[in-house]
Amino acid sequence: MKRAKREIDTMGTIINILVYHDHPDDILDGVEALLLDFNKRFSANDENSDLMRINRAAGVKPIVVDEDLFWLIKRAKNVSIATHSAFNFTIGPIVKLWRIGFDDARVPTDSEIKEKLPLINPHNVVLDANMQSVFLRKQGMEIDLGAIAKGYFADRIKAYLLERQVSSAVIDLGGNVLTVGSAPGRADNKWRIGIQSPFESRNQIIGVASIEDSSIVTSGIYERHYEKNGTSYHHIFDSKTGYPIVNDLASVSIFSEASITGEIWTTALFVYNAIEVINIMQQEDISGLVISKTGKLYMSEDLRDVVSFGQ
Ligand code: ADP
Ligand code: MG
Repeated sequence: MKRAKREIDTMGTIINILVYHDHPDDILDGVEALLLDFNKRFSANDENSDLMRINRAAGVKPIVVDEDLFWLIKRAKNVSIATHSAFNFTIGPIVKLWRIGFDDARVPTDSEIKEKLPLINPHNVVLDANMQSVFLRKQGMEIDLGAIAKGYFADRIKAYLLERQVSSAVIDLGGNVLTVGSAPGRADNKWRIGIQSPFESRNQIIGVASIEDSSIVTSGIYERHYEKNGTSYHHIFDSKTGYPIVNDLASVSIFSEASITGEIWTTALFVYNAIEVINIMQQEDISGLVISKTGKLYMSEDLRDVVSFGQ
């Protein structure tokens, strides 16, 4: 069995895929093709993607889409309309007003923000399962799958690898890590996955997790943010105000079997303070790790033997 690694620069991030297989390059070609196809169809930054066809037809007409995009939109809607969820997949008009993470990021005026608030109601997305169509009721509405898509893609890539009998692999979509099977050469079969420090540049880790066949998704204020007049604005927004969520969180990491679950929870929990997040995790049986802006670390009980610090 051979080991091969590929770095792919797409979806505004660096993707790393590691596979063990007799013909690893063929497998990696397949993964790359899959990613490019997802990006082409699901991107919110490409005017010609299927997602943007839905957005451009807002207030005009329903758009028929592929089964997988329909499924993901349906999942995103369900999560968005759940009570107490900070997750809102119709946040697009607000995201595009601020442009955080892009060169032309800015702080919009209060009135610009208020004007967009009526356009971010997830109930105004009409799904027709028979037609497999999506209709945004108001002109100017925009679906944004940025908080869920990477988790979904990771799960799809894992399914693709398993179909091709890949028994060991690591899928890393810009910090969202999903492992497949066991780690070759490790007595305990577990992969060693670094947990990124929210205070330093990329690749500075605060601890190492030992996992097998599972996902770690991290959402942090270091990911994308914008500084203006001494204030730091990050990229997860409060649907009530249209401003970035203000709390004491530096990062939230979720450990789960499916990557999409971790993706959804990291964003859904981002409205709370660190101590509240860890309490909800315990209540909901979610495995995770939270770091506050003051550097305090909270971790769910079950991770005590999974994450190690120091050395
Ligand atoms: P990343 O892994 O890129 O840091 P996250 O999973 O943390 O991404 O999701 C952040 C992205 O989700 C934003 O860039 C934006 O596109 C979108 N987003 C921002 N606020 C919300 C929200 N309240 N609900 C759902 N999606 C959001
Ligand atoms: Mg996410």
